[in-house]
Amino acid sequence: MTRNIVVTGGAGFIASHLCDHLIAAFPEARLTIVDKLTYAGNLDNLSEVTKSSAVTFLQGDVCDYNLMHKVTKEADWVIHTAAESHVENSFLTPLSFSMTNTMGAHTVIECCRLNNVRKIFHISSDEVYGEIEPPTQANELSALAPTTPYSATKAAADLIIEAYRKTYGLPVTVIRPCNIYGTRQYPEKIIPKFCTLAARCLPLPIQGKGTHTRFYMSVHDLCRAILFIDKNALPADTYNVCSKNEVTNLEIARIICSIFSLDPDSSIEFVADRVYHDKRYAMDDKKLRAYGWSEKNSLSEDIKLIAEWYTTRS
Ligand code: NAD
Repeated sequence: MTRNIVVTGGAGFIASHLCDHLIAAFPEARLTIVDKLTYAGNLDNLSEVTKSSAVTFLQGDVCDYNLMHKVTKEADWVIHTAAESHVENSFLTPLSFSMTNTMGAHTVIECCRLNNVRKIFHISSDEVYGEIEPPTQANELSALAPTTPYSATKAAADLIIEAYRKTYGLPVTVIRPCNIYGTRQYPEKIIPKFCTLAARCLPLPIQGKGTHTRFYMSVHDLCRAILFIDKNALPADTYNVCSKNEVTNLEIARIICSIFSLDPDSSIEFVADRVYHDKRYAMDDKKLRAYGWSEKNSLSEDIKLIAEWYTTRS
């Protein structure tokens, strides 16, 4: 049976890699990709998959009810990743975040309900748990405690999904990833931004003291985790997906300086901190690991190749 898969936000960083993984895992599948093509979306990210006649790209907004109702009509799976994803932008234009991240997610979920879609994945974020003091880690039962407009709009979508699971029994699996790295990421996030600047010998701006920490995972491990959850874990549940790799922003800057043979003392520039800056996100991901999942990649091994990729594009 041909599997019809709808992916939202497919021209973005994570979902474009996910489309590659889906095509490899399900060669018989038909893929429909819906993306508004905001500044963060790039059709070049899909240049390989869109060569296939089994892949259809539609430029459109996930808030467009008629469009989403139409594309989910024949869907067996819907994987919703489309979002405004950059926290700092959410300080400047918070309403656009509510629109896409909450109303857009609600629109997608409602259309899935009306069309009886049997498998739905929603990509949430570790940021919905808010700032986590060391050595604590949030597990899937921890309270949602978002602190930024970005994380609040993501948490709002998670709550709507939780209500749909309870009220309608809608089979939505929620995935909460840590910070994801890889190629094709818009150079506003720290790794692509610093690689792009370092390639041009420009200063690397560190906000505050650079002591904020994040856990980093390869985009390929996240894509494998999504497929693993589909195959092995209970559906319609929530899964934290986290690495064991906790790194400060200053450490990221130093690693990138060393790849580009730059002196960190003269290349790193300390600048004013964000309006609000969570010190740490941290998740307990034992629930997923208990099914036997583990990551394969590591930032220290991947970072050189990733830096090279951004260098050729800067
Ligand atoms: P991204 O910014 O690279 O891509 C987002 C994509 O969504 C873009 O192609 C954009 O054009 C599209 N889009 C935005 N608004 C849209 C709308 N209204 N309708 C249709 N398409 C729209 O984001 P990403 O980093 O690939 O993140 C994907 C998902 O993963 C997001 O839901 C994000 O919250 C979540 N997430 C990302 C990370 C990370 O480290 N990148 C970590 C945890 C969770």
